[in-house]
Amino acid sequence: MIKPHNLKVHNSLSGEKETFVPIHKDSVGMYVCGPTVYSNVHLGNVRTFLSFDMIYRYLLHLGYNVRYVRNITDAGHLTDDGDVDNDRFVKQSRLEKLEPMEIVQKYTVDFHKVLETFNALPPTIEPTATGHIVEQIELTQKLIELGLAYEINGSVYFDVEAYNQKGLNYGELSRRNIEDLINNTRDLDGQDEKRNPVDFALWKNASPAHIMRWNSPWGAGFPGWHLECTVMSTKYLGETFDIHGGGMDLKFPHHECEIAQAKGATGSQPVKYWLHANMLTMNGQRMSKSTGNYILPMQLLSGENDFFEKPFAPSVVRFCFLQAHYRSVLDISNDAMLASEKGLNRLMDGFKNLDLIQASSQSTFDVNEWLTNCYAAMDDDFNTPIMISHLFEAVRIINAAKDGTEKLTADDIQTLKTSIRAFVFDVMGLKSNAESEVNSSKLDGVMQLLIRIRNKARADKNWALSDQIRDELSEVGIHLKDGKDGTEYNVN
Ligand code: AMP
Ligand code: ZN
Repeated sequence: MIKPHNLKVHNSLSGEKETFVPIHKDSVGMYVCGPTVYSNVHLGNVRTFLSFDMIYRYLLHLGYNVRYVRNITDAGHLTDDGDVDNDRFVKQSRLEKLEPMEIVQKYTVDFHKVLETFNALPPTIEPTATGHIVEQIELTQKLIELGLAYEINGSVYFDVEAYNQKGLNYGELSRRNIEDLINNTRDLDGQDEKRNPVDFALWKNASPAHIMRWNSPWGAGFPGWHLECTVMSTKYLGETFDIHGGGMDLKFPHHECEIAQAKGATGSQPVKYWLHANMLTMNGQRMSKSTGNYILPMQLLSGENDFFEKPFAPSVVRFCFLQAHYRSVLDISNDAMLASEKGLNRLMDGFKNLDLIQASSQSTFDVNEWLTNCYAAMDDDFNTPIMISHLFEAVRIINAAKDGTEKLTADDIQTLKTSIRAFVFDVMGLKSNAESEVNSSKLDGVMQLLIRIRNKARADKNWALSDQIRDELSEVGIHLKDGKDGTEYNVN
């Protein structure tokens, strides 16, 4: 059963908040662009994935049956320029002396581990680009047949001008004008084989030296990045589906191209509501791998970094993120994390204090109005900071009721308990045992240190020390297991 609600979401396509009406009653189809698995996700990436985890959780809480698709980008041409050697998987595999698919596996595993640590729910389908090469070739063929794409030297490009000549509007999402785009796009030293600099690759020709390539009607090559999301979203959610999400930085060109590919092929708008999450910054600058201004999630959790004075529990990080609206920029800092830790403890203590209140025959606080306000905040484009402020208001009343300066009836205490539990644990995905989370990440830090010392001992052929570490850890119930990818431990 769907709870009564009046959800409004900010749709980037219209630039307005719109009432959310799913295409199929009671069911929601949601697609979120997943990670490109050639390196570890940084904390900025995590923020975006957690923003959509909160949205997914709220839709589930309202009672919707949600099909949540989030892809893994494990191949593909990731830029629109003509540089075929710029394949990040191949580059990284050379750097790490691993097969490209080993790179993919390594960072997919890391991504899953990170999101699980932050208590993010898994999507219901997690398709990979390499698993959908056939469909990508088919869509490319279709776009050629429709006169919306052309082949040149074994590569296929989307023809933006032909698309616009059909009365369609490339730039409708990002509100960019094609003339400005043409003027602002540099033709890389005239080497660009595209007819028009705004055209983008659907399929890229690859030489035999290129490891990740597939046969196609245009020779061996690999698909363009924008194509995979169009193919996988429409394959699992239909020609038109409810929600498409991703970080703001993906609006152009990635999502603009997705619209063009899908609309070009089917004539219909692929997505009803486009949702874009804003960026995490550090030192006032966008967190990004390429500029070096980033922190890895595990560095924040273990305290092994130069930026934060202590380790923080995953729930504290989540809480910190949720104290900002998902469409606002959030600057992460030591002070912000300390404040969130304090706030989360206050919230959890307040929740526990509910059990210590002596029920009265009348309440001095209107719990129903409070609950209506909590839902109104979430229904207003998932406004978690306002919802959290209502939770703090409830905590103030609970603590006062415990001290006897406010009064709550048994029914109101029960309503508070059920609804705080729902907002805190189900919708925000927080965990109550923040302290044990910190301890387990500390344990992990200690174990990694011991494993490094033991590796050094083994390299020095100091078998006595390496055996001592293994045996004495085993005595306290921590077992080391040496494998191809290094040493792992398990606790029992
Ligand atoms: P990528 O693997 O680069 O495609 O990024 C995965 C997701 O993280 C995308 O939705 C990006 O928009 C998002 N993202 C990248 N940098 C940041 C950042 N600094 N803050 C928030 N989200 C980000
Ligand atoms: Zn995508």
